[in-house]
Amino acid sequence: MHKPKITLHLCAPRGFCAGVDRAIQVVEEALRRYGAPVYVRHEIVHNRFVVDTLKEKGAIFVEELDEVPATDQPVIFSAHGVPKHVPETAEGRNLLYLDATCPLVSKVHKEAILHERRGREIVLIGHAGHPEVEGTMGQLPAGAITLIETPEDARAFTPRDAGNLAWISQTTLSVDDTAEMVEILKERFPQITGPQKGDICYATTNRQEAVKAVAPKVERMLVVGAPNSSNSRRLVEVAERNGCAKATLIRRAAEIDWDDLAGISDIGLTAGASAPEVLVEEVVEALRERFEVKLEVVTTAEEDITFLLPRTLREQAA
Ligand code: SF4
Repeated sequence: MHKPKITLHLCAPRGFCAGVDRAIQVVEEALRRYGAPVYVRHEIVHNRFVVDTLKEKGAIFVEELDEVPATDQPVIFSAHGVPKHVPETAEGRNLLYLDATCPLVSKVHKEAILHERRGREIVLIGHAGHPEVEGTMGQLPAGAITLIETPEDARAFTPRDAGNLAWISQTTLSVDDTAEMVEILKERFPQITGPQKGDICYATTNRQEAVKAVAPKVERMLVVGAPNSSNSRRLVEVAERNGCAKATLIRRAAEIDWDDLAGISDIGLTAGASAPEVLVEEVVEALRERFEVKLEVVTTAEEDITFLLPRTLREQAA
């Protein structure tokens, strides 16, 4: 069979970040130490394939702690972080909990707490309803943090005291959109304080940079990731804003729209921080079945970051 030729531009870095890798390890290590079941509050990371694989090994996923029975088995909090009342409730119920919150999310929690201690009003740039935003806002009493989602919100925001203001952000936002909102806030409130290098994490930044390098060279970009994964959805936007005619979020190879790829010669491929490499490989294989693929890897950064497991698991290992 004659196969049309394509060049597949593979973004690097892509896929799993250190925080996701650690969160999955926490569940696997907990299963090894305590046996099944272990309870996990919320999807440990936003990827169905990962969640289903852990379910098969004995993890039980719940949305809230009241779904967890009285048990000696551990409860794990997801990589996105949790509001303060969640560990407090777990303690009140004598539940053993393990916190898989990404250390880079915990860093934002600490910033929020510090700003509050210093009496500052806090603006959080992020997306309403995302568990990370709920976790960060939940570090402080209701009303302490104002959420800003758009440049319009940044223009409309009225602080109680413009001279005593701080901003923080969700870790998985669009780098460019966030810079725009910070700029608006700084113009309006020159005394506003915030993180020196921002709160968007290295993984989100690096994946967006790789997509920016590939987007102008391709007519289509496939982004492997889940619809509820913030950083995956941002990769779709970044691709389309930087020269790629159309970017599509796919959970797996089965979701590829083959009609849409007909007659296309250059395709980009990346994956959100919660998407495992095995799903990228599946997409490459599916493309190879239909096309004669020339693979070009576009590397814009090298990553060697790893995070230690939570102390409880480390201590037991020692
Ligand atoms: Fe941590 Fe960033 Fe990965 Fe989120 S995307 S888990 S903040 S490293």
